[in-house]
Amino acid sequence: MRQSLVAANWKMNGSIQSNQLLLDALKQGISKIPNTEVAVCPPFVYLQQIKEVLQGTAITWGAQNLSHEAPGAFTGEIAANMLLDFNCKYVIVGHSERRNLYGESDELVAKKFAGAQSVGLIPILCVGELLEERETGKTEPVVQRQLDAVIHLQGITALEQAVIAYEPVWAIGTGKTATPEQAQEVHAFIRQHLAKEDAKIAAKVQILYGGSVKGSNASELFAMPDIDGGLIGGASLKADEFLTICQATR
Ligand code: 13P
Repeated sequence: MRQSLVAANWKMNGSIQSNQLLLDALKQGISKIPNTEVAVCPPFVYLQQIKEVLQGTAITWGAQNLSHEAPGAFTGEIAANMLLDFNCKYVIVGHSERRNLYGESDELVAKKFAGAQSVGLIPILCVGELLEERETGKTEPVVQRQLDAVIHLQGITALEQAVIAYEPVWAIGTGKTATPEQAQEVHAFIRQHLAKEDAKIAAKVQILYGGSVKGSNASELFAMPDIDGGLIGGASLKADEFLTICQATR
């Protein structure tokens, strides 16, 4: 049985003050969520605060991005090993906002995935299709291409220490959630695709759903057999709503 994981992706939101309020509420609420791992991914500059506030609690954390390069002359970038100084467990790679707004290619995402694992971080690999790709029947080939970039660089065994997040781009921040059936179909496809290489790894890997998950729709999504939790954007900034989502896991 795969453990459920609900991860907050705060994106470019927060302040020392608002984070403190949110984290205090999460710390209070976490005792009601015994069987699900809850993780928080703040902007880089708040990782020190997260480390101070969350260490010793059951909540884990990670970053939203990293550089694939080793430390050196890369102005404005953050190296994988730096994230270890803040006790990060996870790092999101290939979020659709990185792919679509900052031009990150499948190959670059695969390098970031590899860089994360090289220091022991667990990458949360985001995959998902644009609306136009869904409407033209390309969902599966797109998701497969995004997965294959990692598998080609790293081999299937790399998926042993990783999390996948299926985030249909048309559902992100739009209020338009994929139906549980639509999401399940792609999650099952991801597992089947990985199973062609290694059935054990495919059965074990956690696959999260992301895209307009709310307190009101989380349980029906998480009830699906191949949905192991969620990657939550907007709703993760409100403590009550985020805790409701965390409690909705199976
Ligand atoms: P929303 O939950 O705001 O749609 O964002 C989803 C997401 O992109 C999480 O990474």
